[in-house]
Amino acid sequence: MAPKNKIALGIDIGGTKISMACVIDGEITGSILSRKTPCDSNEILNYVLEGIETLNYDFNINVIGIATAGAVNKENTRVVGSTGNLPTGYSDIDFKEEIENKFKIKTLVENDANAAAYAEFKAGAAIGHMNTITVTLGTGVGGGIIVDGKLVRGKMGAGAEVGHMPLSWEKKRKCTCGDWDCWEAYASGTGYRATAREMAAKIPLELRTGILTDKDITQLTTHDIIAGLNQGDEFCRQVHDAWIEFVLMGLISLTNIFDPDSIVLSGGMAKFVDFEDLNKRLDARCHIAKTKIIHAKAENNAGILGGAMLALEKFC
Ligand SMILES: [Zn+2]
Repeated sequence: MAPKNKIALGIDIGGTKISMACVIDGEITGSILSRKTPCDSNEILNYVLEGIETLNYDFNINVIGIATAGAVNKENTRVVGSTGNLPTGYSDIDFKEEIENKFKIKTLVENDANAAAYAEFKAGAAIGHMNTITVTLGTGVGGGIIVDGKLVRGKMGAGAEVGHMPLSWEKKRKCTCGDWDCWEAYASGTGYRATAREMAAKIPLELRTGILTDKDITQLTTHDIIAGLNQGDEFCRQVHDAWIEFVLMGLISLTNIFDPDSIVLSGGMAKFVDFEDLNKRLDARCHIAKTKIIHAKAENNAGILGGAMLALEKFC
């Protein structure tokens, strides 16, 4: 359990939004400061420093945890290499040094998917699960892995990139990482849409019914399929089923490799999962290890909570 009454500031820096708030006893306290992520890396640093100054005035912060997009170094001080949608120059910011010099508050930096997994473990859907994996199904597929209560970070902090497990050798679909047929290319929202368009293209024009009637299939969206699914459209049911099977493939691998207590699904696409059905499918396909697939709880504030709780764990 995190130390009682200590005040941690959690800061979530993503490609679209930066948000921060104070966390006491596993809960967000006071207001959440938030803005669209600036295109300039100096502006990001300035916003973070100004936010700390404002919140520290009200709360007297003990420690700070930053959850950021991109791989974070082993020492938990800064981003290295790939920074997702963040501006160039972002990986040159030494958050730990900048913040500790200015405010004398101990600071830690962690990858946002790792922080989200830690938030689910400490304050979300996986409380008490010493072995748990959080998979984020959004525009891409991210992951955070906890084994025996500790984050698995790898030799340089770049581990748990579950989205880049290849599902096939056929080079059918390009992934954002530059390789082919990664789990992300199929199980993400982007993958969902690609599957819908591919499946629609295989149906001859004259046989296209339901939502496909008079539809430009190159413009099919995830929203179209979900709307059709809710109206009982057969094509949409098939697309959705194909997506669930792609999601399942990665979950089978993770279950067999890690034998976790739970796998938490978070992100925008997780709300389209029928958890009872997915658990049945997984049970039928896992013959050695078994696990439970559950829906995330900390979600929207997972970066803030996870960053704050990791900082408390490390420094208090
Ligand atoms: Zn990939």
